[in-house]
Amino acid sequence: MHHPVPVIATLDAILPDEPLLMMGAGPVPIPAKVAAANGIVINHLGDTMARVIEQMKMMARYVFQTESQHILGVAGPGSAAMEMAAANLVIPGSKVLCVCNGFFSSRLAEMSERLGAEVVRINIPCGQAANADEVITAIREHRPQVLTIVQGETSNTVYNGCLPEICRVAHELECLVVVDAVCTLSTMPLNMDDWGVDAVITGGQKGLSSIPGVSLVAFSELAWDLISSRQDILRHWCLDAKLADQFWYKKSYHYTAPVSGILALHEALHLVCKETLPRRFDRHLKCSLALQAGIEGLGLELYVDQPSRLNSVVGIKLPEGLNQKELLRFISSEYGVEIAGSFGLDIVRIGQMGEQCRTHNIFRTIHALGSSLKGLGQQVDIPAGVAALERSIEMYQPRYSAQTE
Ligand SMILES: *Cc1c(COP(=O)(O)O)cnc(C)c1O
Repeated sequence: MHHPVPVIATLDAILPDEPLLMMGAGPVPIPAKVAAANGIVINHLGDTMARVIEQMKMMARYVFQTESQHILGVAGPGSAAMEMAAANLVIPGSKVLCVCNGFFSSRLAEMSERLGAEVVRINIPCGQAANADEVITAIREHRPQVLTIVQGETSNTVYNGCLPEICRVAHELECLVVVDAVCTLSTMPLNMDDWGVDAVITGGQKGLSSIPGVSLVAFSELAWDLISSRQDILRHWCLDAKLADQFWYKKSYHYTAPVSGILALHEALHLVCKETLPRRFDRHLKCSLALQAGIEGLGLELYVDQPSRLNSVVGIKLPEGLNQKELLRFISSEYGVEIAGSFGLDIVRIGQMGEQCRTHNIFRTIHALGSSLKGLGQQVDIPAGVAALERSIEMYQPRYSAQTE
């Protein structure tokens, strides 16, 4: 034979002895139930899968806060769900208005361009939230068929709080609104029906604390009207919502569903339902505010000011003279904590999505961050950071769930 058997290290030799604490911008740690479900393979069609899918749709309707009968899964990353929303709603030659806050929201613009749309971008200065008036003026001026916007821009940790306002005007002007909620869904309110969002996109490995590779997209009735009335043939066979509908609503075959990942997502959604959204939002807010207080207590500065600061992923300015890569390597090798760098910005990011929002995880992360900075010769006040963290947790008043809980 021409090609010899390769020499391969075992996974044990490659992976650290103890799993690292994944506190970056995703993937995030998964609960044991999700991990166990991910190890199971069942028939992708048949009664068992049908029951799983029925329950998943029920749970997804709760998590998306919608009555939609058009929630579809997709085998692929969050980006595949983005592309599925875009491919089905963006008609070649139509006008799409894209609110670009950064890396991910610009991806929706790029996808729309590839689909042959006439794309108008609103480029928001880095670190700032979209301004509702500016977006509404642009909708009136350009009269797009579709508007794309991100709820939380993971790349630079900005939060767009103006979605309800924008959706209201967009609807009056017959513009469909596509919202990327990959990092935010189930970490903060997103009321698809009340706000009038036409497509909500999410991935598995962030807010939902499942595995990467199986994602969801929910279409409104209005969006589905457009999808079902389209006469042109979609270029994307795998992402064609009408074909996916065969599997998700008609118990028949589109492509072999990612069964293990679907079971994992079923468990992740079940955990959201058991916790309930109000309690989950409070857990996320409590932990993120405490993390932010801890970071400032250490003597560091947060990248984004209120009210544009995203709570699901927190951006931290690097002290002068500190190398980002060096810090990431140090905190990982010395303390077993993974945090994220960023695409082109001089910040590091700490995620607050799903299982990352546990107080024991933030204490460990603040200690690891402070000690790493100290180890790299920076001046930080670790006791003050830990104290600020503790104080913030103690002072938190539930905002979404009953105070007695
Ligand atoms: C992570 C992320 C994506 C992309 O998800 P992938 O699973 O990496 O494709 C898109 N949008 C936002 C807001 C994200 O945080």
